[in-house]
Amino acid sequence: MDEPRLKLAIQKSGRLTDPSLDVLVRCGLKISRGKDQLMAYGENMPLDVLFVRDDDIPDLVQEDVCDLGLVGLNVLEEKRLELAARGHPVRFQALRTLDFGRCRLVLAVPQEHPYEGVASLQGKRIATTYPYLLEQYLREHAVSAEIVTLSGAVEIAPRLGRADLICDLVSTGSTLQANHLREVQTVLESHAVLIRTPLALAPLKSEWVERLVMRLDGVQQVRESKYIMLHAPRAALAEIRRLLPGSEFPTIIPLEGSPDKVAVHAVCRENVFWETLERLKKAGASALLVLPVEKMLS
Ligand code: ATP
Ligand code: ZN
Repeated sequence: MDEPRLKLAIQKSGRLTDPSLDVLVRCGLKISRGKDQLMAYGENMPLDVLFVRDDDIPDLVQEDVCDLGLVGLNVLEEKRLELAARGHPVRFQALRTLDFGRCRLVLAVPQEHPYEGVASLQGKRIATTYPYLLEQYLREHAVSAEIVTLSGAVEIAPRLGRADLICDLVSTGSTLQANHLREVQTVLESHAVLIRTPLALAPLKSEWVERLVMRLDGVQQVRESKYIMLHAPRAALAEIRRLLPGSEFPTIIPLEGSPDKVAVHAVCRENVFWETLERLKKAGASALLVLPVEKMLS
């Protein structure tokens, strides 16, 4: 009998596509994807990737068309609120937060408009593609405003006279600036999330979900981690260990023909910056070497 295969939905073309494919490749997945293909076959794992619109991902997982999905928290939370409002059960489960797709859902007002806190939103018209998240935010802040739901081009709504302000996604804020808007409040901090169906999976599928999650954890740890090697006078060891960022148990190795010095090797679970190296050198370290970590499994 054929091995059951996992189906994972990712965004077909957009901001999440490349980072999603990148993280899957780092997890060891080999896929062949033809241009405009809807599905890619995992050659070395029983896992196929479906390319869809990001807004459809929660539904696909909710309806068990796919077992897994990679989607923005913004889309996920909006969907969760929408389902709840319609009295439907929410059935997808978030498994992991991923370190890409970072953005914020914010309220932004035209640059020249004054803004005096959330209370000044009272009675205003706010354009957004996230009506449920906005509605929740307003309710939590006891403000009643008119929500103008649009399907796109939210940032030009104030200039068109369709709204007084907007509630939209930003990452750097340059789009807001280009549209003469000023960010005044954060509604949601967002990032990509791995979601799964709540249905029990066949044992083999379930095993692969666990393996994938473990590899994802490893990939995310590795991104920040560095392997650092240096020589240190024995007398300075305590200080040098204190300076090594995020490393608990360095390996200390004696140096042949140099009784006062040792070699220190350590995995640092944070990025190692030039400033740290300079401090280590000042404390007596020499022959400093920082290497990227390729894989990690704890
Ligand atoms: P689709 O055709 O799949 O519906 P889209 O236009 O909704 O595409 P994108 O603009 O590619 O989607 O954004 C996809 C996701 O990327 C967003 O839902 C959000 O989670 C994330 N994201 C990260 N940074 C930003 C940003 N600056 N603006 C908008 N979305 C961002
Ligand atoms: Zn979308």
